[in-house]
Amino acid sequence: MSAGASGIGMTSRGTRDRLVGRLREHGIRDERVLSAIMNVPRHEFVDEALSSRAYEDTALPIGQSQTISQPYIVARMTEALLAGGTLAKVLEVGTGSGYQAAVLAQLVSEVYTVERIKELLRSSRQLFHRLKIFNVRTRHADGHLGWPGQAPFDGIIVTAAARTIPEDLVAQLAIGGRLVMPLERDGEQRLLMIQRGEDGCETADLGAVVFVPMLAGLS
Ligand code: SAH
Repeated sequence: MSAGASGIGMTSRGTRDRLVGRLREHGIRDERVLSAIMNVPRHEFVDEALSSRAYEDTALPIGQSQTISQPYIVARMTEALLAGGTLAKVLEVGTGSGYQAAVLAQLVSEVYTVERIKELLRSSRQLFHRLKIFNVRTRHADGHLGWPGQAPFDGIIVTAAARTIPEDLVAQLAIGGRLVMPLERDGEQRLLMIQRGEDGCETADLGAVVFVPMLAGLS
């Protein structure tokens, strides 16, 4: 196949339809999430050499030893966050390629995203601009600390696995707000959904996942 033909195939509606069909088969039900996945051009968030694989349901490398999350996981985390009610303001920890933030940007009014690796943040900022995604604000920071100046958030998504739940993140949740994050426990990672109530938090285990580790400090 010529480069041109594969280019058309890769971005065609059919290719994205197949991905959305697969997510449906795997239990994603929220139509808002499925149409956000349909609308965001994932091939723009990966290196050109990998763009023919952008609509496969797999994680892919994005440089700096990091990965763009698997679409199913992006959908699952987004669905878990939205199930809590209307979200105006959401924080993401771990911008990476910017894909998860771009999906969230279709669904909530304001997305705040922090990344510890400057180089990744630089390219994701350029991409948001090029794709005319104007409701995402970015910051070069250690996400363990959240984004204090913008708190409280209706939802927080962490896209790297920590060993403990960062207290600052829980503190930056609005009452009724949800934190969705992978936690490392006994050598495996579990996806947790923590909802902040009037007096204390409730935690639900959403199953096993694989994420890159959440690291301290800037790079
Ligand atoms: N959401 C991203 C997934 C990227 S992988 C996407 O859709 O592409 C996880 C990202 O978390 C990596 O880019 C990594 O650098 C970042 N990360 C890890 N620890 C972090 C921390 N303490 N603060 C902010 N970002 C962090």
